[in-house]
Amino acid sequence: MKDLLNRFLFDKYPVRGEVVHLDDAWKAVLDKHDYPELVRNMLGEAMAATALLSATIKFLGSITLQIQGDGPVSMLVVQVTTDKKIRAMATYESSELQPGLKNLFGEARLMITIEMENAAERYQGIVELGDRNIAASLEEYFKSSEQLETRLWLTANGEVAAGFLLQQMPKESMPNASDGWNRFCVLAETLKDDELISLEAEELLHRLYHEDDIRLFTPDRIEFSCSCSSDRIEKTLKNMGYEEVKSILAEQGKVEVDCNFCNHHYEYDAIDVEKIFIDGLAVAPSNTRH
Ligand SMILES: [Zn+2]
Repeated sequence: MKDLLNRFLFDKYPVRGEVVHLDDAWKAVLDKHDYPELVRNMLGEAMAATALLSATIKFLGSITLQIQGDGPVSMLVVQVTTDKKIRAMATYESSELQPGLKNLFGEARLMITIEMENAAERYQGIVELGDRNIAASLEEYFKSSEQLETRLWLTANGEVAAGFLLQQMPKESMPNASDGWNRFCVLAETLKDDELISLEAEELLHRLYHEDDIRLFTPDRIEFSCSCSSDRIEKTLKNMGYEEVKSILAEQGKVEVDCNFCNHHYEYDAIDVEKIFIDGLAVAPSNTRH
């Protein structure tokens, strides 16, 4: 079973959890770019984390995890939609990298952006990355943004990106339940990276919590998919403005745009550019008429 996001509940405790394994979706990301190992593993952890986060939003839309800093890895972005399409990329200026978040990202912030489909407003939560791992930064994010105790375990290699999440549910949901939280976390600490990578959800939960009753829901399948399109690129060009785009055209003979997520190559010659801006002008009068 590949590329699955599993959700589960402890029957007698107000604690929920998730297990995710990304296989083909992760390899699709690695096929597009040859990342140094340290960047690759960080991107895999971020990808597993973002997949886990996607189960926490209840509306149609997307969730984006972004790390931006002044270190040699300047940006890392993972985006997943509620229909479980995921894409990810990182940009780095040097392949001479030292392990440790601070060495990779420098002074950096981790941002979570939640966007609803067809809604103008969006939610953004920001935490300092510091020298912790991505899991610890997200634990702080959950604490500050949702007041929910959350623990994450993340790992990735060249084949699989995997993650495990435990989260306390509001106590009111099970007022008489005893608090199993600490015990569940202590047991999860015994999970080794290679177990998280290789054990299927059911096996993994049995290995950790065979003494507890767990309800495991039907898993969601996650797949790599990029939402870039010529429409979106043309909108970006329009936003840059006619003069700016014309000057690129004059300099390079054409305007080339590569999608950093899927490597799709977009190319516009002088005629295409005129067409993009004429189309824009054709629409403009009806928008400004009063
Ligand atoms: Zn793309």
